Amino acid sequence: SVAALDESVPATHRTQDRHRALGEPVLRDAFRNAPDTDPSVPANRAWALDVLRRVPRSQLGAQTIRGAKVADRSKLERIMARTAQAGVNWGRQDPSDRAELLDLIGHELETRRADLIEVMAAETGKTFSEADTEVTEAVDAAHYYAERARRLGDIEGARYVPPRLTVVVPPWNFPVAIPAGGVLAALAAGSGVVLKPAPEAKRSGALLADVLWDAGVPHSLLQLVDLAEDELGRDLVGHPAVDRIILTGSADTARSFRWWRAGLPLSAETSGKNAIVVTPSADIDLAVQDIVQSAFGHAGQKCSAASLVVLVGTVGESERFRRQLVDATRTLRVAWPDDPTAQVGPVIAEPEGKLRQGLTELGPGESWLVQPTALDDSGRLWSPGIRDGVRPGSDFHQTEYFGPVLGIMRAETLEQAIAIQNGTDYGLTAGIHSLDADEVADWLASVRAGNLFVNRGITGAVVGRQPFGGWKRSSVGTGTKAGGPMYVATLGRWEPVPRTV
Ligand code: GLU
Repeated sequence: SVAALDESVPATHRTQDRHRALGEPVLRDAFRNAPDTDPSVPANRAWALDVLRRVPRSQLGAQTIRGAKVADRSKLERIMARTAQAGVNWGRQDPSDRAELLDLIGHELETRRADLIEVMAAETGKTFSEADTEVTEAVDAAHYYAERARRLGDIEGARYVPPRLTVVVPPWNFPVAIPAGGVLAALAAGSGVVLKPAPEAKRSGALLADVLWDAGVPHSLLQLVDLAEDELGRDLVGHPAVDRIILTGSADTARSFRWWRAGLPLSAETSGKNAIVVTPSADIDLAVQDIVQSAFGHAGQKCSAASLVVLVGTVGESERFRRQLVDATRTLRVAWPDDPTAQVGPVIAEPEGKLRQGLTELGPGESWLVQPTALDDSGRLWSPGIRDGVRPGSDFHQTEYFGPVLGIMRAETLEQAIAIQNGTDYGLTAGIHSLDADEVADWLASVRAGNLFVNRGITGAVVGRQPFGGWKRSSVGTGTKAGGPMYVATLGRWEPVPRTV
């Protein structure tokens, strides 16, 4: 009922439901992006506080295991066979029927926004606004892929063959948006789906599956598995009924998947080492704001995050730029997500190995502009840091650290800055801040990355507008981008149809 919806959906999202109550159809033929919760609306702030009150600090990061716990090969085999069979039947349905279910899922995700935010905050430490945006992205994926399914007509001389079974292996850093993106694209493509959530984000994965089942996805068509042993991962990936794997994770994981099964149809997004270039023509206020957001949003734990800034020419000596960047970083509110004022939350686990080095040790010629510090006994809450003097070819230039630490590099010319930006193995996101159209044109022509952002932060790609995917070591497999027009169509196969005369 509308009244029930009104209680669980924040004011900004309610408008849409009211329209529907007045007769707007649930099914939408033209895709529109959903809004995030608007904090300037007092009712939304009250709603957000209420959601966060449900995130008890004692539970932050606590792991509870739900979903089908698979401990042996024969159980996995049964799950795979059943899902593949359900997938075959689903793939025979008219794509517009599949689209109808996806639109219903989009609506269900919207009505469960509060629960999804709560579980993400509790489980992975996401702040309210980071978690809120994830739900928006999932809602967008449902409606966007619905639209793509409707357009999945046969092209002349070719016939679309849906995958029977797609395995979705998401990371913990986007515990709702990324699994939702994969699962929804696969459903739109006409496939059965086995979802294996990241070990750190099982509750988020389980809730997402619940929401989809509640929206009407048959249990046989979408299975959630919790693999008890690594060994079973190999069986999951290597299973002959699997026609597609959607992975977001490390390049090493993608490589072992390929090793486990030669010729695996893989769509993988794998890591980044991303830089924002700032030229002397840049709007410094805007650049600083975007750098700080891109570097320290979700404590830097995004493949898309800015971990380098390359200052061109006089910007490298600009006292104003330096002071603003330092101030903006030092004044970030770093707190656990049950605190509604938190802007930067905890990292997923106490840093060790590479990330600990990144937060505590300097390379040759480097100095701390802002030194990161651990803020409490958990070891997970770190104030963000900025290291200056990062040299081309150094560890910090080349390695992904995946945490709240940013490095500053300098270049004499834009050309040199681009060489630095391109000088890593990865190519996921890249940014430039410049108000000079010629500079921007030069940059666009030479930078080698999947997602290029001009005078904007480099995280938070929007479904349908900024299809997301990398070049070089940032992507393995088909190379079509998530949230883009080709994604659904390339999950299946296209077979030539003999011409009839
Ligand atoms: N799609 C996300 C963004 O644009 C990043 C996903 C990831 O970190 O894997 O920020």
